[in-house]
Amino acid sequence: MIQIDYLRKKGHRITKQRKLVYDLIQKKPITADEIHFLLKKQGQRINLASIYRSFDFFITYKIIREINFLDGKKRYERVGNEKHHHHLICRICGLVEDIILINEYALLNEINTIKNFAVDHHSMEFFGKCQNCQ
Ligand SMILES: [Zn+2]
Ligand SMILES: [Zn+2]
Repeated sequence: MIQIDYLRKKGHRITKQRKLVYDLIQKKPITADEIHFLLKKQGQRINLASIYRSFDFFITYKIIREINFLDGKKRYERVGNEKHHHHLICRICGLVEDIILINEYALLNEINTIKNFAVDHHSMEFFGKCQNCQ
């Protein structure tokens, strides 16, 4: 992956451990516990603390980001190739879906008009029931 190569070029050591964690963080937000479980299934012994340290490393270099869904669990997803999107979170089954909002520009424009505030970053999560759970 480009991002990993970039870090290597900058002289950072990508340990096997970091690589394993990185490979499990994809577009879909995932928790440390889930990664821990998946690694165990792969026969990898990496403790939670190490997983969190890998997260910190990747967050520092903006390779991944932390997302807070207000359910007390921190999730992580890759930054980068994907288009700017938001999340739909099902309160019943926990399904997380991405959504790209076409009219978002109008909303940001409105904020700028009302408050003369130049937004350069935001995140929005929408909670409810997915199709299956309705
Ligand atoms: Zn947005
Ligand atoms: Zn659901």
